[in-house]
Amino acid sequence: MTITVKLSHDYPFSPENVWTVATDLGHLKTITHGLLNFRNLPRGQIYKGQHIKVQISLFGKLPYQPYEMTVLTCDPATMSFHSQETGAGVKSWDHALSVIPTKTGSRIEEEITIDAGLATWVFAIWARVLYRRRHAPRLKILEGLANSLPHDRSSEAPETEGEQAHKINGFHAHVYFDNTSMDAAAKLCEQAAQRFGVDLGRMHTRPIGPHPMPSCQLDCTNEQFSALLPWLIGNRGDLSILCHGKSSNHLADHTRNAFWLGEPHSLGLSLFN
Ligand code: ZN
Repeated sequence: MTITVKLSHDYPFSPENVWTVATDLGHLKTITHGLLNFRNLPRGQIYKGQHIKVQISLFGKLPYQPYEMTVLTCDPATMSFHSQETGAGVKSWDHALSVIPTKTGSRIEEEITIDAGLATWVFAIWARVLYRRRHAPRLKILEGLANSLPHDRSSEAPETEGEQAHKINGFHAHVYFDNTSMDAAAKLCEQAAQRFGVDLGRMHTRPIGPHPMPSCQLDCTNEQFSALLPWLIGNRGDLSILCHGKSSNHLADHTRNAFWLGEPHSLGLSLFN
């Protein structure tokens, strides 16, 4: 007997940030705490082919039981993964997750197919509760990421839709790198964060979202960006950097609101259609 549970949650944050949080095992531990406690859970981003053996405890109170997860697919370019889990009375727990860009940010769509024999329906109810309860703590983590920026949008007058589409609320600078330029990129990004107080993302060692190469993101307010840009131009060396404005339109941000320092690359824009 199998039951499939479908869930969808909207987030007012960029697909890149939502994907980063959704695939981070450290965040998984934080957002399920109290409902599901883990032992031996590794750190970092999940990756294709990863096999994880953990101990889990319902509510952190019931006895710990062995549980295994295998990441069958994990593609940062399309921002989707598929994992298979088993243990703790569950024959198979099949989990597919995608992050989809929306007009106001992004959406997580999840599909969980459960086989736990006669107890399948109990686990299906449990899955709904568990994945719904993840939403609020996940929002908190994302707000924490966004709040490291001093910009406060709530105090501004409401705008019409047309104005919103053209309003630039800060910039991203995505520093691209490969194996040979990874150290230079890391150094440049760390210096930029120290000098200008911009928000430093992680080093994505694989393509993510529309970015066809490994990259690291600098997230800036408009004010920070005006100071950062001349410094980036003078200090980027041979690194390619995609600079783009942040409006409510992700496609526009990666086309007409974007420009390159150094060699340009083709972006995966089909993601935004
Ligand atoms: Zn960006």
